[in-house]
Amino acid sequence: MDLIAIAVPFFLALILAEFIYGVIRGRNTYRLNDTINSLSMGSLSSLSGLMIVGGSALIYEFVVDAFALTQLSADSTLVWITTFIFYDLAYYWKHRLGHEVTLFWGSHVSHHQSEDYNLGTALRQTSIDFHGFLFLIPFFIAGVPGEVLVATVSLNLIYQFWVHTQHVPKLGPIEWIMVTPSNHRVHHARNDQYVDKNYGGVFIIWDRIFGTYQDELAEEPAVYGLRKPLNSWNPLWANTHVYWRLLVDFVKIKGIKNKVQLLFKRPGWLPEGYVKTCKATPIDLRSKYDPPVASATKAYVFGQFLITVAVSLSLAGLASLASPVELWAAAGFIVLSLFTHGYILDKRRLAAPLESARLILAIALALLLPLGSTLSALLGYSAAASLIVLGISIALQRNILGAGDQEIRKGDVSEGLAKASV
Ligand SMILES: [Zn+2]
Ligand SMILES: [Zn+2]
Repeated sequence: MDLIAIAVPFFLALILAEFIYGVIRGRNTYRLNDTINSLSMGSLSSLSGLMIVGGSALIYEFVVDAFALTQLSADSTLVWITTFIFYDLAYYWKHRLGHEVTLFWGSHVSHHQSEDYNLGTALRQTSIDFHGFLFLIPFFIAGVPGEVLVATVSLNLIYQFWVHTQHVPKLGPIEWIMVTPSNHRVHHARNDQYVDKNYGGVFIIWDRIFGTYQDELAEEPAVYGLRKPLNSWNPLWANTHVYWRLLVDFVKIKGIKNKVQLLFKRPGWLPEGYVKTCKATPIDLRSKYDPPVASATKAYVFGQFLITVAVSLSLAGLASLASPVELWAAAGFIVLSLFTHGYILDKRRLAAPLESARLILAIALALLLPLGSTLSALLGYSAAASLIVLGISIALQRNILGAGDQEIRKGDVSEGLAKASV
């Protein structure tokens, strides 16, 4: 049973509820561009999981068969509780190494790029989780049944959803034991004293034991995001930017020992005498990446994004019905769509031609792919209507996709809160 797939509709409903609550209370923590970007990262992540489905299961079966491991009973409550607690310990170390080892940071960085902090941020997950299974090997060897492990990993992740909010204050004695909104806000902050703290998934006790705990301080409101901001709404670049810089440095530096160290040292490490490829431009850490976009453009991208989400959600249902070619074609279209939505919000020069090409492709796919009649009609007709709207806006020289100059950073978060701009 895929618990995360069951949880997704609840996640989306809670995101909407948090947005409405924030607007009513005058403390909206959502921006349209950031929310689309976070949810795009979530879609890509589940898409990559879908396309390599069974990978972990195969490794699991191989290890269990190869070593003829005895299996514990899935009916034992003790097995479930012990697995849950020890998996959280394993998660602590996976997460900590995800921050402290460059090779793993390149994967985990995706979760930290948002300069807002809301339930949408929770769905911002990597598409390149190539090392997660290493932390499961001890459980394979201990004989934890596959279904217990899969459920435990899912429950751990589902728990982490609700802590991504600015609306819940400190929770008294619970702060001592559990990961809470307050102590996880610290984890997402880029303030000097908050960086690389509070790695726990469900229990915060691991941070207290291993010396990485930091309390949220009233005099130091959290400012969210990376210390070297991404400055882009491109979800593909968000997944790969650290690896690109790592590759450039890896090729540049001399000596095999230095190259190996580069992969396993902390992010930003270079051997003596080398200058960083990625020079951190000094920025005001309290400002946010927010290229100004017209309301019509926002409404247009939001509408297209909803259609992309509908296609993404339907793909999971299609996985067993469609041929691999159809599945890859649909997945490719979703990736292209998420990329294009970000490209428009980034105010890139070729947004209009790229979007036109994507809409023509959407019509072709609606005719060719077995997406189900309702979804095909939605995709085909909406793409045709969008093409007409786009054509008219260009003909009237009021191109709703805009063009040109990118304003890099804008915004004021003096109260640690985002402006209402959805
Ligand atoms: Zn983290
Ligand atoms: Zn988080």
